[in-house]
Amino acid sequence: MKPKIDKIEKPRKSGGIKWKIFRWLLIFAAVILVILWLCQVVFLDNIYKAVKIAEIKSAASDLAEYTDTAEELNARAEELCSSSDICVFVMKMLNNQTALGLASVDTQRDCTLHNTDQRSKFVLYDSAKKAGGSNLQRFYFDDKSDRFYSIEGSLYDKNPSGEADYSSESILYTVITEAGDGSETVIFIDAVISPVGATVRTLNFILIIISGILILLSAVVAFVISYRVSKPLEKMSYAANELAKGDYSVAFSGSGYRETEELASSLNYAASELSKVDSLRRELIANISHDLRTPLTMIEGYSEVMRDLPGENTPENVQIIIDETNRLSSLVNDVLDISRLEDGSYKPKNERFNLTEAVRTTLLRYNKLCERNGYRIEFAGDSDVFVNSDQTRIMQVIYNLINNAVTYTGEDKTVYVRQSVRNGAAVRIEVEDSGDGIAPDKLEFIWERYYKVDKEHKRAAIGTGLGLSIVKRTMEMLGGSCGVISAVGHGSIFWIELPTDDGDTGRNDL
Ligand code: ADP
Repeated sequence: MKPKIDKIEKPRKSGGIKWKIFRWLLIFAAVILVILWLCQVVFLDNIYKAVKIAEIKSAASDLAEYTDTAEELNARAEELCSSSDICVFVMKMLNNQTALGLASVDTQRDCTLHNTDQRSKFVLYDSAKKAGGSNLQRFYFDDKSDRFYSIEGSLYDKNPSGEADYSSESILYTVITEAGDGSETVIFIDAVISPVGATVRTLNFILIIISGILILLSAVVAFVISYRVSKPLEKMSYAANELAKGDYSVAFSGSGYRETEELASSLNYAASELSKVDSLRRELIANISHDLRTPLTMIEGYSEVMRDLPGENTPENVQIIIDETNRLSSLVNDVLDISRLEDGSYKPKNERFNLTEAVRTTLLRYNKLCERNGYRIEFAGDSDVFVNSDQTRIMQVIYNLINNAVTYTGEDKTVYVRQSVRNGAAVRIEVEDSGDGIAPDKLEFIWERYYKVDKEHKRAAIGTGLGLSIVKRTMEMLGGSCGVISAVGHGSIFWIELPTDDGDTGRNDL
């Protein structure tokens, strides 16, 4: 059972979509600023040094390829020094105390390499040797004592004054390469790097300005986006409230976004369906109450007459009461049938039965009517066809079609019922009348619930407008099909089709 909704519940208090989008866009801008600040300010020094060290190491391994001839080595060293802002010194070790200079390129002012004596190079060589062939050292020049100090203090002493006030830093990389004959070549590369403090201060300033602009911009963008996204939803929510209150004329608009447009068109469709259902419901109540009232009035009237006047207690009067009771029960049955078919609670049977026989049995119900009112129902179907389906439902479908044909047929009061087998695989039952037919623009609606082509017409008052919708839903449920061919002024042919049962496709003559 569906829950009954008495009133529109207010949603839980959870921030609106507008503010959520707004908040998330601002958070996004803040995250970008933090990343920018970390890269540009906090880690700038480390990133700069890491890049420089990688550059020095690559230059050293490049130079190691050229250690065979001094000219080539010098030429390559010149190239590298001018492109990468480094100083190079290369020497060949003759023994532990003497070495032969192979190349020397000096391009930077405060380079440790070219401002210290030869002895220092042997110290650097020793430390690289101890470290397994290469070594990286950082130095700074102290103006007061006019000498270089090691920043880590591992090679030279640290500044004894304890001060480390330097304007530039020198990174010195020493690498020892061994030739085939066992001799060693030592490559020194020095890069002087300026501290990034001043740059960081400038970047900080720029960053503050960028942050201000970015926050302002993202606030504006966030506001515009959130407003534009939430506006159609707010409008739709308002319209949905109106719809819930019973105003079916509301129109939902999606304001130019695909998703909201789709939602709006679904809601518009739902609104139009609801409106249809509502007007059908009103019509049905009016129809059913009218249809119920007429037989009930008749039953009441005849019963009272029969009670009060013993002479009126005739079989004819009793028959009228029985007929009216039958009308009442068929009306109630129709309403029950359609509701069971629509909510899916009806479970169809699947049994093999003789369809031709079922049609004939249905026609027997009309014998009385034909005798009394001069109707003629002709059946053409000389062989028995078997199908696998729900016999009761199929008989109900045929009954509904014949009922309509009898109701709407023309002056000749004739109805033709035909059975034919198509390609040995499907059987078709056609019910033809010679009535007024149905206008083409009405044809698509006759299968809808409670639809009547001509509501004012006397004949239409007989039906409930449910017969054909029961036919259509039943055939869909049973895997068959149905349709109509109608010509105004000439009559209509209503048909149904079902797959025949394998093996017995209808050639078993009686
Ligand atoms: P009803 O119970 O009113 O006959 P149906 O669903 O069976 O309801 O039919 C819907 C409408 O289709 C009818 O009101 C009628 O206007 C039209 N209709 C159905 N069968 C025929 C027919 N054989 N000839 C003309 N109109 C028909």
